[in-house]
Order: sequence, then C-alpha cells, then structure tokens
Amino acid sequence: MVKVRFAPSPTGYLHVGNARTALVNYLFARREGGRLLLRLDDTDTERGRPEFEQGLYDDLRWLGIEWDENAKQSERFARYEEVADQLKATGRLYPCFEGEDELASKRAALVKRKLPPIYDRGALNMTAEQRATAEANGKRPYWRFKLSDGAASWNDLVLGSRNIRLGTVSDPVLIRADGSPLYTFTSVVDDADMDITHIIRGEDHVSNTAVQIDLFQAITKKPVPRFAHLPLISGGDGEKLSKRIGSISLKSLRKDGIEPGAITSYLARLGTNKDPAPLPLPELVASFSLSDFSRSTPRFDARQLVALNRKLLHHIEFDAVKDRLPEGATPKFWNAIRDNIDMLTEARRWWEVVAGEFILPALPAHIPVWRAALDSLPPEPWDEATWKPWSTVISEATGAKGRDLFQPLRLALTGEEHGPEMAKLLPLIGRELVARRLASCVAADGTPG
Ligand code: GLU
Repeated sequence: MVKVRFAPSPTGYLHVGNARTALVNYLFARREGGRLLLRLDDTDTERGRPEFEQGLYDDLRWLGIEWDENAKQSERFARYEEVADQLKATGRLYPCFEGEDELASKRAALVKRKLPPIYDRGALNMTAEQRATAEANGKRPYWRFKLSDGAASWNDLVLGSRNIRLGTVSDPVLIRADGSPLYTFTSVVDDADMDITHIIRGEDHVSNTAVQIDLFQAITKKPVPRFAHLPLISGGDGEKLSKRIGSISLKSLRKDGIEPGAITSYLARLGTNKDPAPLPLPELVASFSLSDFSRSTPRFDARQLVALNRKLLHHIEFDAVKDRLPEGATPKFWNAIRDNIDMLTEARRWWEVVAGEFILPALPAHIPVWRAALDSLPPEPWDEATWKPWSTVISEATGAKGRDLFQPLRLALTGEEHGPEMAKLLPLIGRELVARRLASCVAADGTPG
C-alpha cells in the first residue's frame, strides 16, 4: 500500500513551492490508490505559530487537497527520545562537546589543506574519562549520528540513480545540547514508524537523503522508502524559486483572484512533459505520472497561470462564483463577462459598468457617433438583439464603420477600449444609464451636436 507524506514546517504560510510538493504527493497518492499523511514538522517551537498551522489547513483545503491522516512531531518527543536511546546503546549516536568556534577552526584548517571540511569524529575518540571531565566542567553534550562506511544509493524516481559515499559527509547532529531533536532525525523516525513508502519533496533535500537512508537502516529493518526529488522552480531568470516566486503565498494568489483550480492545473504539470491544461483534480489524478517530471529546472511563468485561470473561468457556472461576485450580480451578467476576464476580481469593474457609476476617461475629440447614438436610442425593453440594428442606424447617420463606429461607443458606454460583447452588455447597462453616459460624452466634448 502506497503511503506518502507532506511534511511542512508551520513557520510560514503555504507558498507556491511547497503547495506544489503537497499537490504532487496528493496526486501520486490518489493515482496509486494510496494514502496521504499530513505531518507537521513542528519541533521548532520558536518559529512555529498556530496561525501558520491553521493557514496550512485552510490553504490545502482551498486547493482541494485532502489528506487521510494527520500527525504532529511536537506530540512525539517521547518516541524520539526512545529511538535516540536505542542508537546511543548501539554506539551510533555519540556525544560531542566541541563548540562552534572549535568546529569552525577545524574546518578552516582542513580547507587550508585543500581537504573537504568534514567533521573529524574527534568526540568519538574521546575516552570515558575525557567525557566525564567535560561534563564535570558543566558542558552538556549534543549528539551526532555515526554514519556507516560505504555509500548510500537510491534510484530517484525523478533524478535517476544516485550514489553518495558517506565518507564525504559529516556525521550529522541529531540531538541538540538542550535535548531537542533535529529534523534529519525526527523525519526519519516518523517515516519509519508511519510506514511511508515514497518520499516526494524538493531537490533542496537531496543532500539529506544519503544520511537519512543510512539513519533509516540504523533505526529499522523496514524497507527504505523510495525517493523522488522535484527540481526547484525558478523565476524567469533562473533564480531559485524559494527566494522570490516560491515565496508567493497562496493567500496572495487568492487575493489576486486566481482560482484554486488554475493553481493546481498549473503546478501539477509544471516541470513535466505535459502541457498545462485547465483540468479538475480527478482528471489531473488520472493523467498523473511521476515519470513525466524532468530533471531540469522548471520556470514559473505567471502568464501561463493567468491564461489557465482565464480558460477556467470560461467554464465556471454562475452558481459556483455567485458568492464572490458583487452583490446583485445575475447569471446574465456572469455570462456576459466570463469570457473576457483573466481573474474574478475584474468582475467588480464590469459590475460598475453595468450597474453603477464610473468615471468617464479622458475622451478623444468630438465624435459624431455619440450624438447620433443618443438621438437614435431605441425604446425599451432591450435584449441582446438590440445592439445590432441600433449600431446600423448610427452607422447610416454618421457614415462611421467598423472600428470608427464601435470604438467610441464602447468607450462612452463602458469607459474601456476592450471588453465583453457590446450586444450582451447593452441590455445589462440599460437605457437610462446608456442615455446618461452618451449625454455626458456629448457634453464633455463641449461641441453642440
Ligand atoms: N519540513 C521539511 C520541509 O518543509 C520536510 C522535508 C521532507 O519532506 O523531508 O522542508
């Protein structure tokens, strides 16, 4: 049974980078008929905040990502202590006393000799007496994991086969002097205890993987999970996502009016060989495969995201958006505008056009079509068939055709040069507002018609 986890640290809001990790784990779990665990890596009690935790749940739900199990590392300290004790008993976890300065000078000495700055296991070679002396002097040890000789290898489901000699890596610190366990350790204990079969995460964790495999094998006889590391998304100029675009929070995208479906459609295929398409989650699941992901760095393209959003809006029915439309908006209004907006937030502007007042933009010089339009206003009731014969009358009266006819009318009635079909907008604006707008155009121009 496939089981994956999304393991965010609640030290900030969900952003594009980790939303993608969450989504890919979700799609994989559903595709494989497996389970998704949402695990909070919340042992960092100083930086974690309850509102970030709630924010994570809210943002995941907003995206439509459902999980099957919850876990919190902050509730598992006793278990980490238990496993630490086992590792101490077998000599794999050993106490260290060197301070930062001492370690720094050791590293500097190695670098000077052009050697890799790997920890020399000085503390491992201490005698029991030396340790006792250190502790008697008031020093409390922190604990390092003694890596195996040899190598750790794995066949990464995205990056391909990897082999890292453990001799090239420092023994990692797993427990701080104050007794608190570190991510490298807690994560492996949890992955083992919670029967995780696949670890799908960002490529920034590749450097942890060799150590975590070795640690996993020291802790349990269970099979080591498979790994899939997704290359980090970059901005347009190759900058790593985590710095700029990656830090775009879902909150801010939501505020900008981007639909959750556009985000999931975009992120599901970013960095794969498939074109992004505005698909609902079940279809993204059905077409998902980890083997579609490329080893190269994907580029985040906000225009593509907006284009997906636009396409998605074309197919959204009124009932699905009515709560987010301006008060009073009708299905007819939605049908008139939905093909012409990039984001739902733009609906407000069009609502002002059909229902409210708007400030007339700077107008070009006298345009006779305004006067002619005012003079030939058809009587109500108006519907979508009103526009065509009316504009024909205006054209005949003024000789204006095509752009010269439609552009000034659109401008006078909507204040915009582009937008939804005038035939659909006209009955929504209604005769009274149309008359008033045309009259003020004529007046603003100052030329008697
Ligand atoms: N809490 C870690 C992070 O947010 C989890 C990494 C992992 O998936 O192992 O980066």
